[in-house]
Amino acid sequence: MYDGHIHSPYCPHGTKDSLRSYVDKAVDLGYSAMTFTEHAPLPKSFTDPVPLKDSSMAFGDVEEYIRNLQDLKKEYHNTIRVKIGFEVDFIQGFEGETKSFLQEYGPEMDDSLLSVHFLKGKNDWHCIDYSPEMFAEAIKDFGSLHHLYEEYFTALQSSLNADLGRNKPRRIGHMTLIRKFHSLYPSPKGWEATALKLLEAVKKEGCEIDYNGAGLSKPYCRESYPPYNIAKQAHEKGIPLIYGSDAHGVSALKQGYEELDSSLLKRSL
Ligand SMILES: [Zn+2]
Ligand SMILES: [Zn+2]
Repeated sequence: MYDGHIHSPYCPHGTKDSLRSYVDKAVDLGYSAMTFTEHAPLPKSFTDPVPLKDSSMAFGDVEEYIRNLQDLKKEYHNTIRVKIGFEVDFIQGFEGETKSFLQEYGPEMDDSLLSVHFLKGKNDWHCIDYSPEMFAEAIKDFGSLHHLYEEYFTALQSSLNADLGRNKPRRIGHMTLIRKFHSLYPSPKGWEATALKLLEAVKKEGCEIDYNGAGLSKPYCRESYPPYNIAKQAHEKGIPLIYGSDAHGVSALKQGYEELDSSLLKRSL
């Protein structure tokens, strides 16, 4: 049992549950390995579009986060493998700053995720998973839901192609996050074909996929990221799928796991 997507008390929109409490709970749940993937600090020249500007951890906390995880990793090494990582945002136009972050901290990272949460419309930046209201604003700014989806998958494609240096994360975070509010805003026709096409690029780049259980508990989503059919096809193509709880608190560890098809998950790590 491995969980490759876990947040921490350093996340300003999460809980204050301690790193140690996550590790203890993971041991109780029978995990053999876990990666902490806190939201890496956003590029300094990027303005976080959410009202409280709390999408990522603070730059000033990065070294403490790494140090504390290094200590836990040593302390628990006979019980569970604790890995150090980040959920790194791919933000189009800010690749240079992202690359320098990875250059600086990549050597401390065991495993990481590359995710798209932010998209620029005609006028503004939007966080696509923040709230149904912000999602509605994004649709308006992009001109249509169809365009918003198109831009989302284009951004994922660019994230796969981007040169972010040798420490570039190898796993794509929640590749269908754009579906978070799909029962309010039904996905445009053909979206699944676009998502399936993306798998080709994932395969070509030799990347992995975060098989993320968080969407299953979101009231307007109720499915994994990606949903079963896409996960199955990824598996058939030989793309490794790694379970991710995307927990922002100890109680969310292992969330959605029982509802996923665990036979699709990568066997060994
Ligand atoms: Zn988060
Ligand atoms: Zn995320």
